[in-house]
Amino acid sequence: MQAIRELYKQGRGPSSSHTLAPERACRLFTEVNGTFPYYEAELFGSLSLTGKGHHTDRIIRETLPGETKVIFSLDWQEDFPNGFYLRAYDAAHVQQVCWTVFSIGGGSLQIKEYPLDWNDEVYTEKSYKEITQLLAEEDITLIEYIERHEPDLRSYLGKILQTMSECVDRGIRTFGILPGELKVYRSARQLYEMAMEAPMEDRDPLKLMAYAYAAGEENAAGHTCVTAPTLGACGVMTSLMYYYLHDRGTDREDLIDALMIGGIFGNLIKTNATVSGAVGGCQAEVGAAVSMASAACAYLEGCTPDQIEYAAEIGMEHNLGLTCDPVKGYVIIPCIERNAMGIRRAIDAATLSRYMLNIKGHLVSFDMVVETMNETGKKIPIELKETAAGGLAKEFENA
Ligand code: SF4
Repeated sequence: MQAIRELYKQGRGPSSSHTLAPERACRLFTEVNGTFPYYEAELFGSLSLTGKGHHTDRIIRETLPGETKVIFSLDWQEDFPNGFYLRAYDAAHVQQVCWTVFSIGGGSLQIKEYPLDWNDEVYTEKSYKEITQLLAEEDITLIEYIERHEPDLRSYLGKILQTMSECVDRGIRTFGILPGELKVYRSARQLYEMAMEAPMEDRDPLKLMAYAYAAGEENAAGHTCVTAPTLGACGVMTSLMYYYLHDRGTDREDLIDALMIGGIFGNLIKTNATVSGAVGGCQAEVGAAVSMASAACAYLEGCTPDQIEYAAEIGMEHNLGLTCDPVKGYVIIPCIERNAMGIRRAIDAATLSRYMLNIKGHLVSFDMVVETMNETGKKIPIELKETAAGGLAKEFENA
């Protein structure tokens, strides 16, 4: 498994696969190969089909330091479905370098011609079962296990928490229309104001959803958010962290612990299945985010390791089969509302695990549900995997 710091990344929205990953690739391309007068990025798969709505062409042009042509192509011969060729040309338009870039989800990359050390395996254990066996053998906690592998993670996650907090602060103060032809009005600010006036029993649920809207709207506006595990699904964990920090007054160090706990479950999903909507549908993005937030919430509520695993399992299990069908390719509908529903599901999963394990054990393990998600993702048709060619996206076009 890779480092948790490769799971949580700061970046500009609206999509970790479509903006953050190309931006990282273009930056690295320039660092490694130097600058050239001309560039060409040829996009394939989901990057080609929804790259306009996700602003992929804009971010590539803004990042490369020369005149850049972006081509949307369909005939991709590589194994991974989401990627692009990045080419550099000299003044005589002769090609000098070409990279084959795969956007593998959550802003992570693989480059065929240039192996990346940030993709190094930091953890040798590959399943939750293996991790819990090791914890028992060595008599250590999950937090100790994580810190042993990533000693500098705590300070890094402090900055991630700060970025999450600033993201919601901006989102709940901003009015206006989100970029793109859908002309959708931002709702987080009004939802937050309504939450403050709502009857007591509605107040916290509405605040949590307002925070998820705030992060989702900031992401859709192309501002800085945190991949958790992706930018499209950033609202779930961000809302949870903001709520515990600002409404519950939870200590920052405890929230960093909760980010680690959520991070290990997100990492297991990324390792054994996928966090890419283009590969596994939205179960891999919002489903994974709900699973991470369920575990993090269970941890913050003082649950046992068994209850935490059960919460993560519930969070994933009840998102199995969730498709990805962003209207016109924008990370707005159904994405933002789905994040708001996601945080409610995570809170419920943590609550259910806390009580249900006092009644009976659970037969489905976290590892089992991740494997199920992976298999389910393979069977979801391509039209429902971030291509904007099916589902709500299609109905919207036909309406
Ligand atoms: S539907 Fe889900 S996976 Fe698809 S773009 Fe929206 S948040 Fe991402």
